[in-house]
Amino acid sequence: MKTIIEPFKIKTVEPIRFTTRTEREHILSEAGHNLFNVHADDVLIDLLTDSGTSAMSAKQWAGIMEGDESYAGSKSFYRFEKIVKEITGFKHIIPTHQGRAAEKIIFSILGGEGRIVPNNTHFDTTRANVEMSGATAEDLPVAEGAIPSLVADFKGNMDLAALETLIKEKGKENIPICMLTVTNNSNGGQPVSMENIRKTSELCRTNGIPFFLDACRFAENAYFIKLREPGYGTKSVREIANEMFSYADGCTMSGKKDGLVNIGGFLAVNDDDLAQQARNILVVTEGFPTYGGLAGHDMEAIAQGFEEVLDEHYLKYRIRSVSFLGEKLGALGVPIIQPPGGHAIYLDARASLPHIPPQEFPGQALACEIYLQGGIRSCEIGSVMFGKTDPASGAFLPAKLELVRLAIPRRVYTQSHIDYVAECIGEVFKKRDQLGGMRIVSEPPVLRHFTARFEPIKSKQYHP
Ligand SMILES: *Cc1c(COP(=O)(O)O)cnc(C)c1O
Repeated sequence: MKTIIEPFKIKTVEPIRFTTRTEREHILSEAGHNLFNVHADDVLIDLLTDSGTSAMSAKQWAGIMEGDESYAGSKSFYRFEKIVKEITGFKHIIPTHQGRAAEKIIFSILGGEGRIVPNNTHFDTTRANVEMSGATAEDLPVAEGAIPSLVADFKGNMDLAALETLIKEKGKENIPICMLTVTNNSNGGQPVSMENIRKTSELCRTNGIPFFLDACRFAENAYFIKLREPGYGTKSVREIANEMFSYADGCTMSGKKDGLVNIGGFLAVNDDDLAQQARNILVVTEGFPTYGGLAGHDMEAIAQGFEEVLDEHYLKYRIRSVSFLGEKLGALGVPIIQPPGGHAIYLDARASLPHIPPQEFPGQALACEIYLQGGIRSCEIGSVMFGKTDPASGAFLPAKLELVRLAIPRRVYTQSHIDYVAECIGEVFKKRDQLGGMRIVSEPPVLRHFTARFEPIKSKQYHP
């Protein structure tokens, strides 16, 4: 059979609201040409993020009713703890309201001035929590991860030689923890191989450095290992996930991704002392150890989500539906990061719009035009998000890549929604020569991509 179908049927529907191009022009201009300022109700297909946007199953919603809201010793905590222990094998499971709360706890214990935390690529909240503790965050991705058009199996891997050099140069005593993000979200959602997880772990253990996974998308990563890594084709995804976690001393997790829930996360550790210190912080900042930052019903929903996310029919559909969009865009000639990652397609705006220089934000221009064309919301990941002004010379320092991310929420959109997205982007691509750049009208001092306001630069070619 060629067609891979959605492995679910639809029980509840949520209408989406159609707007005209004229309405969208007005909406976008009111929003200062920043899609974060657009009301979700004015969006037809929302690909801003895959975080917290999953559709929950009937069993998860039933779990919401079943949730035990006891302050201490909630039944829902023990169900959540049991399944997380079965999958990860970790000894202490500490519930938090999101992934970043788990990060905040672990780095307030292990971080601090003069310390260095390596990672294949830090997610932005991970980096912020490392830096807030006073420590330095080092990204050590493999070189092939930086070439958008290069097709390779595990472009999310850690550069092991660079890690070894870092340990030698900075001293193992200054590296309190090493992280590995699976899949590598900030690097195109590319997977990490089992071999790379094992070797990173060995290097850390030889040097006495605790090794943690940032496990937000562990199931998607495990499925890529099954598809691509020799020796794993006949193993179950659950066995593969077990093996991934077996090499680590703990993990941070956002349930908003592969937990298939709208809120929640946890910190897991093996070390008794570290667990005690983490729980001491937890009771002050999140809550009592058997609920942390969550309601009983949230823990029920995560427990059920963990059962469902390892279903191989689900993962086959999930990974295939993302690559399906990548293939459709590829067939239309639209440049994307290759190969498609686990949770998103990244459009290469620099390659699509070579006539727009980085200081005129080609990614922002592309994201805005995709919204105008079809009411589709995406996210610029380029010089708006990561570009800087050199404080000394005032020169513009562009981001490494100019990307537009189309993140696919889990179990939310059907194949025809995805067909529509590809069609709209194809239309935008046809008139790419006519697109002009953007200029910033106002911006806040930090994280400007969330609230900055823009206006289109009207070149003589610009006919929207
Ligand atoms: C989302 C995410 C986080 C943070 O999780 P939140 O639940 O959003 O706080 C950390 N790491 C990675 C790789 C993520 O994708």
